[in-house]
Amino acid sequence: MGSRCSARGAPRLNFAVRALALGNDSVVEGIEVVVVSGTGATYLPAGRVARMTTTPDGPLADEPEARPTSPEEAVLQEAEAVLEQALPGAEAQLEVLDAGRRLLLVHAHPDDETINNGVTMARYVAEGAQVTLVTCTLGEEGEVLVPELAHLAADQDDALGRHRVGELAAAMEALGVSDHRFLGDAGRYRDSGMMGLPSNDRPDAFWQADLDEAAGLLVEVLREKRPQVLVTYDENGGYGHPDHIQAHRVAMRATELAADPAFGSGAAWAVSKVYWNAIPESFMREGLRRMRQAGDTTFFEGVDPDGEIPMVIPDELVTTAVEALEHVDAKLAAMRAHATQITVDGPFFALSNNLGNEAWGVECYRLVRGEPGTERDENGRETDLFAGLD
Ligand SMILES: [Zn+2]
Repeated sequence: MGSRCSARGAPRLNFAVRALALGNDSVVEGIEVVVVSGTGATYLPAGRVARMTTTPDGPLADEPEARPTSPEEAVLQEAEAVLEQALPGAEAQLEVLDAGRRLLLVHAHPDDETINNGVTMARYVAEGAQVTLVTCTLGEEGEVLVPELAHLAADQDDALGRHRVGELAAAMEALGVSDHRFLGDAGRYRDSGMMGLPSNDRPDAFWQADLDEAAGLLVEVLREKRPQVLVTYDENGGYGHPDHIQAHRVAMRATELAADPAFGSGAAWAVSKVYWNAIPESFMREGLRRMRQAGDTTFFEGVDPDGEIPMVIPDELVTTAVEALEHVDAKLAAMRAHATQITVDGPFFALSNNLGNEAWGVECYRLVRGEPGTERDENGRETDLFAGLD
């Protein structure tokens, strides 16, 4: 809060004020809030909150600084003092409650969010929802696909993590996501590498993290951002990567703990719907079939479209399909931002070229906690993660 109620005279100040009546008093506990409107000031009891945006009515220059000369002006100055004291701590929470729909995603490495949920994130940002991404590691053990950057790899300079922080930021910019953070801050947990590698055993590897400690860090975010919807991986982490499995465990544990008033500090928060990322079996089979017909052998190399298919779940378990074709370009831009991990001439982009926008414009989910909405598409699936909540 800046100094807006200057001693320049109340009539010059024009305040746009929005007062929110909040159901949960704990958010504003102990805060007395002042609503200032026009030239007057009104005090509201704690439990009602005002958020102010101010527009000075005309330029404030050319006037000597004056002491308060009227009771009205004195009230405005007092209002300013109260607001400046009261709001800094509460402001973040007010911002949170400003967005009706709040989505939080938990991922293992930078790039997982874009591949799994790129159009979903872009769609909800565009619709005005609050979208928060929590990434658990920096992806230090990733393969580097850009030859000039090969020296960043873990077995050379071991500087890939720092580089991927920048890639993630660029990807989130492409999707319009401004709130992205690392679990317990960047570098707290290290990429464990693929299952069975010695990097799994490093004490700082996410795979070695104490579950409740890591979940406790996520509880803080859940209680701050208060998402109605949480998205993470299934218990196999989609494809068995230790960090994906761990991200799943941490997300599920944190969801439980956040709702428990006896745990930790801050007001308890119960997430209404939990989704796991899902790839329907038929979708992958069809995609593979068309890729092979188009002559591609590198996408899921060696996998037969009619044989056993990895990473998928039976179609009937998929509850939700979020379609957002208009955000495919943003998703592809975000993929390009993850340049060390995804090559533009690689299978992901070939998939897009061969299958068209639907390959990337539809993202599927399995609802595992909460009630599905009643509106369904032709496959009997929800089309909105927030269905039934509004
Ligand atoms: Zn990953």
